[in-house]
Amino acid sequence: MLTGVVFDIKEFAVHDGPGLRVTVFLKGCPLRCSWCHNPEGQSPAPQVLHGSAGERLAGVTFSSRALAVRLNSLAAWLRVGEGGVTFSGGEPLAQADFLAEVIDQLAGVHVLLDTSGYAEEDSFRKVAAKSQLVYFDLKLIDPVAHLAHTGVDNQPILRNLRVLNELGVPFVIRVPLIPGVTDTGANLSAIARTVAGMPGLQRIDLLPYNQAAGAKYAACGMIFEPTFDESERSNINLSCFKSAGLKVRVV
Ligand code: SF4
Repeated sequence: MLTGVVFDIKEFAVHDGPGLRVTVFLKGCPLRCSWCHNPEGQSPAPQVLHGSAGERLAGVTFSSRALAVRLNSLAAWLRVGEGGVTFSGGEPLAQADFLAEVIDQLAGVHVLLDTSGYAEEDSFRKVAAKSQLVYFDLKLIDPVAHLAHTGVDNQPILRNLRVLNELGVPFVIRVPLIPGVTDTGANLSAIARTVAGMPGLQRIDLLPYNQAAGAKYAACGMIFEPTFDESERSNINLSCFKSAGLKVRVV
């Protein structure tokens, strides 16, 4: 039986997918987005955070069975609330084998995978196919800009988007609106062109930049170094999606 590292479990979540949900935050992410507001999710190992309120451990090791038992204990409540479990991170697919084992032990609970899309194709297929809904981040279509702002190539992400479309699992595209980086007309139009006509696409969610993104870095012993002007407001541009016939909303 596999074990995995979880840095938070949020019960009664109402913004992480349909209905009432439990959100499990899996630790570890191969990206280094300069706007990341969960820096404690980046390292795969448990770590002690040193905040103003004292020390806190981020990262608890669970066996797949122990995590599934905890989630199944909430299954009746999740069904009444027409919700389910959301697996987020970090990047949940960084622990894909563990996650697949957890999902296999869930008792008929709706599963939402919230992913950056950056993963080996086999890992992506395995977990996405076990999910009822996928929240898929698309940040930047230009590969040079993607590498500069997230630290990784976007080709695996775009490939996995095509895989997701082939699998037929419904998905929502999530776009963080980072001022001057992802929120430009050129990037948003490129995203609209990339996803237009994909049958599984439910809608586009635009997420304005969270001004508090840097709050937790010091507690993690990290330095917040945004690659953009934090004082700028996000450009909220729905028209390039609407003109492509796509359903879009700001969340
Ligand atoms: S993909 Fe998400 S968790 Fe990973 S670095 Fe980017 S914002 Fe942070």
